[in-house]
Amino acid sequence: MALEGKTAEVFWSDMRTEKGNNLIDKVERLWRRAGFDEIIAQGDLVAVKLHFGEKGNLAYIHPAFVRRIVELIRRQGGKPFLTDTNTLYVGSRSNAVDHLQTAVENGFAYAVVGAPVIIADGLRGKDYLSVPVNLKRFKEVKIGSAIYHADALVVLSHFKGHELTSFGGALKNLGMGCGSPSGKQMMHSDVLPRVRGEKCTACGRCRLWCPAGAITVEEHAVIDEAKCIGCGECTVTCPYRAIKPNFKSAPEVLQEKIVEYAYGALQNKEGKVAFFNFVTNVAPECDCNSWNDAALVGDVGILASYDAVALDQASLDLVNAQPPLPGTRLDGKGDAADKFTAVSGYDGTHQLAYGEEIGLGTRKYTLIKV
Ligand code: SF4
Ligand code: SF4
Repeated sequence: MALEGKTAEVFWSDMRTEKGNNLIDKVERLWRRAGFDEIIAQGDLVAVKLHFGEKGNLAYIHPAFVRRIVELIRRQGGKPFLTDTNTLYVGSRSNAVDHLQTAVENGFAYAVVGAPVIIADGLRGKDYLSVPVNLKRFKEVKIGSAIYHADALVVLSHFKGHELTSFGGALKNLGMGCGSPSGKQMMHSDVLPRVRGEKCTACGRCRLWCPAGAITVEEHAVIDEAKCIGCGECTVTCPYRAIKPNFKSAPEVLQEKIVEYAYGALQNKEGKVAFFNFVTNVAPECDCNSWNDAALVGDVGILASYDAVALDQASLDLVNAQPPLPGTRLDGKGDAADKFTAVSGYDGTHQLAYGEEIGLGTRKYTLIKV
């Protein structure tokens, strides 16, 4: 179902504030202007899908915003819980115990956000449902159980760069973020990083982080292709950028797989999903890293829409309309038309085109300032 000719509304609050209208109030104003009360009925279990940030990363969505959204859901009679799925790679969120600990340390404790945290795919990432999608890359996708069984879904995404998909927003948060680790592995199966021997100091850090035991280090790191599951972790772990992302097939395949997972995550939620993108701390890479490099552009603001494709398109356009900040990964890249492509080397817009192609939304939008 293509949405040719349709235009979606995207609501946008910039970062300007004044007495009586702080940024948290602006989130509530966006919620009301977008009409998000409509998605919640009395007694609904409402999944608030977000990324709690890896330990050491500070670019993720501030918990104070999340608390206000939790309050708005409660006022409407819903029962909110915060959720995410476990990761594929070794880190601080690869099982529910570590994941909950990380969430609390990053500020998502009940006392702060006013809602419990439930890891959607359970203790070891085995609690998922196979959802039929019958699309080009997958016949079915593996969606975290608590997300699938929720009555409504509020998707809070931090819009920033990504080392494999150029940028990540609502589609990435939904697709990769709602998949179980085995589903994530299926999405990543086209990734096969390459070591640049001349840059490698044989420090061994990548070997420690590889979840598949695929790396040995002698004169330099060597990746065993037969063991590598394509998680991409080594590419961001190496402090010398000696491991480059590389794809067995076109980079667009990974984007299509992620978008098909996003499609699966929405299958039983018609009229029950709302999206926010926080275009703040626009780091060059994913919040899955245990650090966040300097933001590429100044904070753009907060956007809300019922349409994930339009929301990501609008977020991308707003970022690309900003001047680059000095002292960032954009140094020496001129005034690149697409800042994320300039940093990652990949064009991420295929995820938007494919999302539109399979009926997830439209790239045409009207931006409404709130
Ligand atoms: S070698 Fe493969 S499995 Fe190991 S961290 Fe790198 S991408 Fe992941
Ligand atoms: S982390 Fe980088 S420098 Fe260290 S062994 Fe791995 S590839 Fe080489």
